[in-house]
Amino acid sequence: MTVSNQTLETGAEKYYQTQLQAGAFTIQRCGDCDKSIFYPRMVCPHCGSDDLQWYTPSGKGTVYSVTVVRNKPENGGDHNVALIDLEEGPRMMSRVQDIAPGEVRIGQSVVACIQRTGDEALLVFVPAGDKA
Ligand SMILES: [Zn+2]
Repeated sequence: MTVSNQTLETGAEKYYQTQLQAGAFTIQRCGDCDKSIFYPRMVCPHCGSDDLQWYTPSGKGTVYSVTVVRNKPENGGDHNVALIDLEEGPRMMSRVQDIAPGEVRIGQSVVACIQRTGDEALLVFVPAGDKA
């Protein structure tokens, strides 16, 4: 039986989820081209290197785009799906919370936080405060 690439990808994703469950947001950085990487994977999408290291990014990001998803209240109500550019470079899909779904603006500064729902840990973003 051969180990498929997909199994390896799942391994990286699993590690990411385990870290998230433990309260840590981690992404990868390539040891060869020094680019930060998200979504978790085994091989650098930029240069093909497998020398990837995990680290904790700043958590700061900027909203690149946002879409409001309409939902019935019993299904959790409206929420948004946003593409966030992390300060370190990678673009990730998430949502912005603690703000009305339609009020998220492109270019808005946000910070990552981990939201727990039961056993699930999910990375979301909240607006970055003007004051510390
Ligand atoms: Zn690379």
